[in-house]
Amino acid sequence: MAVTHDVIPDGTLRVLDHGFVRLDDAMATDLSVVNAARVSFARRKDEMDDSDAGLIRFLMRDRHGTPFEHNAFRFHIRCPIFVAREWFRHRVGSFNEFSMRYARATDDFYVPEPEDVRSQVGKPGAYSFEPVDPELAERTREELREVYEHAYATYERLVEAGVARELARAVMPVGAYTEFFWTVNARALMNFLSLRAAETAQREIRRYAEACETFFADAMPITHAAFVASGRIAP
Ligand SMILES: Cc1cc2nc3c(=O)[nH]c(=O)nc-3n(C[C@H](O)[C@H](O)[C@H](O)COP(=O)(O)OP(=O)(O)OC[C@H]3O[C@@H](n4cnc5c(N)ncnc54)[C@H](O)[C@@H]3O)c2cc1C
Repeated sequence: MAVTHDVIPDGTLRVLDHGFVRLDDAMATDLSVVNAARVSFARRKDEMDDSDAGLIRFLMRDRHGTPFEHNAFRFHIRCPIFVAREWFRHRVGSFNEFSMRYARATDDFYVPEPEDVRSQVGKPGAYSFEPVDPELAERTREELREVYEHAYATYERLVEAGVARELARAVMPVGAYTEFFWTVNARALMNFLSLRAAETAQREIRRYAEACETFFADAMPITHAAFVASGRIAP
């Protein structure tokens, strides 16, 4: 029997065909940056003013990074495994992922929209990704669906026959969806955004990074504006 986790919790940004980014919780304000910096002078504030916004811009510009670490975002994410593999390269942060040892794999797989089926032109480091003709886009989607169906049917057959889930999962393609929690501070989040919400990043992870950035900008608008004004370079 197919298993689906296709229930989208409230307060969630949907990404790709079955994915989402949800801010599970956050302890993150612009004031936390200011107070972390001002502790050097044994000072603390309860409200932001213009001089605090100026301080944040200065810290960002001069890359005084540590005051941006005294906060936390806990994201809940569902994405294809190939996106998660890119994501997990970001070592500063904490991850816990859905386990295909302990739970049955779902049959949610990523099929790109026709406009996201693209060709790869140029050299490594300078690729451009061009649209393909509608016929090739549709064929790609169909071929993906066929492989996914075959892989999932094989997975189910093996599990039903008594093979351990931890081994049967070997047939699952990297287009299968996984789910994880990611807790990260604003400094490491900005590093992630500068790399993964960039034109050079793969389109799929970029969509996720853009969703994370929306939550970041909501929670820490002054820090976010300073990050953008500094050319999106993490401090
Ligand atoms: C467009 C793109 C293409 C990529 N292609 C490849 C690829 O082909 N192959 C591949 O293997 N990876 C690839 N990566 C992954 C990349 O090399 C990084 O592993 C990933 O982007 C995480 O970045 P980070 O180390 O800055 O982040 P984090 O691991 O979160 O680290 C944040 C910061 O902490 C510091 N830091 C963390 N760990 C150390 C350490 N051990 N020593 C010193 N400083 C540290 C660094 O300042 C770092 O920037 C690619 C990434 C992008 C964005």
